[in-house]
Amino acid sequence: MSDDIQIQTSSKTPALIAREVARRRTFGIISHPDAGKTTLTEKLLLFSGAIQMAGTVKARKSGRHATSDWMEIEKQRGISVASSVMQFEFRDHIINLLDTPGHQDFSEDTYRVLTAVDSGLMVIDAAKGVEAQTIKLLDVCRMRNTPIVTFMNKLDRECRDPLELLDEVESVLKIQCAPVTWPIGMGKNFRGVYHLINDEILLFRAGEESVQGFEVIKGIDNPRLQEMFPLEMDQLRMEVELVHGASHPFSLEDFLAGKQTPVFFGSAINNFGVREILSALVDWAPAPGSRDASVRVVQPTEEKFSGFVFKIQANMDPAHRDRIAFLRVCSGRFERGMKVKHLRLNREVKVSSVVTFMASSREQVEEAYAGDIIGLPNHGNMQIGDSFSEGEMLQFTGIPYFAPDFFRQVRIRNPLKIKQLQKGLQQLGEEGAVQVFKPVQGGEVVLGAVGVLQFEVVASRLLNEYGVDAVFEGTSISTARWVSCDDKKMLADFEAALGHNVAYDAAGNMAYLATSGVNLRLTQERWPKLTFHATREHA
Ligand code: GDP
Repeated sequence: MSDDIQIQTSSKTPALIAREVARRRTFGIISHPDAGKTTLTEKLLLFSGAIQMAGTVKARKSGRHATSDWMEIEKQRGISVASSVMQFEFRDHIINLLDTPGHQDFSEDTYRVLTAVDSGLMVIDAAKGVEAQTIKLLDVCRMRNTPIVTFMNKLDRECRDPLELLDEVESVLKIQCAPVTWPIGMGKNFRGVYHLINDEILLFRAGEESVQGFEVIKGIDNPRLQEMFPLEMDQLRMEVELVHGASHPFSLEDFLAGKQTPVFFGSAINNFGVREILSALVDWAPAPGSRDASVRVVQPTEEKFSGFVFKIQANMDPAHRDRIAFLRVCSGRFERGMKVKHLRLNREVKVSSVVTFMASSREQVEEAYAGDIIGLPNHGNMQIGDSFSEGEMLQFTGIPYFAPDFFRQVRIRNPLKIKQLQKGLQQLGEEGAVQVFKPVQGGEVVLGAVGVLQFEVVASRLLNEYGVDAVFEGTSISTARWVSCDDKKMLADFEAALGHNVAYDAAGNMAYLATSGVNLRLTQERWPKLTFHATREHA
């Protein structure tokens, strides 16, 4: 009897896991500040029924003003973390939405979040077009050929010519555009969008506060349309002809290969075009896929649990000074209370306290599947890139570190605290909070970051957690590259010749710290056998 039950349960598990994986979508939302990411996030949640979230998203916004006060950062982070991963349901699918913080919150975490998603939603302000932060983030998506859905926002305002916008996306972001909806007018004359695949027109109404949906008129040649919009329809037919001739039809295969992006036009603030985005994610975006680990490729439907940490958030709860490690589940089924192996430490840990990120609050996880993000309490023993499994040595690869754009030198006010400073920087460097470079020939430690807020966080944490009052000063370094070469002698020669600008990072990798782009280029020319990397993978 008991045997029967056992067989029954275990034979059911693979089917259950396969079903749960198939209905999951994990995507990151990317944009330049002010394009409407927060507004769109709020609306996505509204359509999914997780309405209570709307307020939380707003709370994050209102805490956004720049500040150097640690408590303020914490407060702000505490709120922003709650909304940095959100899980909600739409049409019987489980959707995990990961935010990529911008503004002064921009840090390496922003990039790394994109290694934990299966697709991306790019929001562009149609009045402005492609902006700087979008370019950076899309570069990261391209490293893994992440499929991207594009939302052209704010059509209720005067925008740039839609064809010109598509042209810009294609030439600047180097991705083919396949318009799926096409705008009819814009600004005060915005009438709606024409769905090129479904041959239907979605009528726009400003200030639409409900999620009932907008009126749909079937067929571009429907006489009703001619009556309603005698002026616009001729123009639309002409444009649609042009679009059919000049742009690419949507190809699911090219989208999944990261070569083509379906483009939707709309107005997030008016809820317009939001349902179409959700449908595109559910219908077209990929379910969680396989992941490379050092020894083999891991399939999401495997029975055994595995996952990796892509982000560590410090001080979620100021009272406990806890840190949360964000783990992406890569395979199997995670259950609360299960024992998993922390591979780097080669230690079994029982995970009894785990949080998930339901749209309304941080909740206890009962179970999770590939694509889900879970939060593990971290008492300083987890690092970015750490992998977890049910025993097998599966170190996931592909978690990148990025060459910093900002540099500081560290000095301490009290020289007796040098040991604490070194310890603090080593740990913060390992954790990925900041990059720490130790020059080969004397000199002070150089810190590198991709966002300036990282320095403030490090200064505050050094003081609070290590009792070190550190002063951060400007430096002549302006860019860094990791250096590699098969010829060890060549590397040693390089180090001896340019010792002042050669340094080692917290993981022991050699880097060249250049004073300018020209300096970097000259050095590269003089040492043609060395490779200079702008990113490195977690070792
Ligand atoms: P984020 O910085 O990308 O998160 O952008 P927000 O969602 O905060 O939006 C920036 C500004 O654009 C806010 O003032 C929004 O109210 C406004 N906004 C967002 N979506 C729309 C839209 O569809 N139309 C118009 N006119 N304004 C919008």
